[in-house]
Amino acid sequence: MSMIEFHDVEKYYGDFHALKKINLTIDKGEVVVIIGPSGSGKSTLLRTMNGLNTVSAGKLIVNNFDLADKKTDINKIRRDVGMVFQHFNLYANKTVLQNVTLAPQLVLKEDKAQSEKEAMALLDLVGLADKAHSYPSMLSGGQEQRVAIARSLAMKPKALLFDEPTSALDPEMIGDVLDVMKKVAADGMTMIVVTHEMGFAQEVANRLIFMADGEVLEDDDTKSFFAHP
Ligand code: ADP
Ligand code: ADP
Repeated sequence: MSMIEFHDVEKYYGDFHALKKINLTIDKGEVVVIIGPSGSGKSTLLRTMNGLNTVSAGKLIVNNFDLADKKTDINKIRRDVGMVFQHFNLYANKTVLQNVTLAPQLVLKEDKAQSEKEAMALLDLVGLADKAHSYPSMLSGGQEQRVAIARSLAMKPKALLFDEPTSALDPEMIGDVLDVMKKVAADGMTMIVVTHEMGFAQEVANRLIFMADGEVLEDDDTKSFFAHP
């Protein structure tokens, strides 16, 4: 079952051709890592997958919705396809628990007790149940990023996009965040991850996409990718 399908997708920023004839199908349960030089279009590609970027031409189907169709509710796509950013943007004036329960309460209309129960289970998953009542300023960057992952999971997404989730972290924090991502992958989440962490790619991803100059140059299963000379 495919989760995301690109058919001859093009993206222009003004005159700049950022994505060139992209054809890709990502199935449910896949963990795909996207690599490539800075400026090659990785982030642009990722942001098209939940409608943060529009596409200029071609067809893009996400979770069976056509993103070019004006009738498609882009907010539903964004609920179904979560995104974890390099900078986590937690609400500074809310506790960790409140950061995780806010969207489920406002958007999914979950009641307080239910959303808190689910949030505590997610904070447990990311190893931060004991920080539920702390404020973000009391956390390390790595802990903040783990809260951001819990917050994304709280929306019960069908897929999660990660845009360089460890690039802003001190080296000693990176492992804990990657471990959480590994757990999320093991639970069967469809994940598309832009990262320079090749160890994570080799260990967790089933597939690797290499971009350069707005094009997908390689799209391989992880084993054969790492077998290249
Ligand atoms: P990567 O994630 O691989 O570093 P990006 O997708 O961020 O690449 O960017 C690809 C190219 O598109 C870069 O040359 C960048 O400057 C340009 N670009 C990205 N976003 C925009 C935008 N909103 N408007 C104009 N150009 C952009
Ligand atoms: P859409 O995908 O809805 O067409 P864009 O992503 O093209 O929207 O627009 C995002 C904003 O980022 C634009 O206002 C654009 O001008 C601005 N921007 C311009 N150049 C860059 C760049 N090199 N990198 C990132 N953002 C840029």
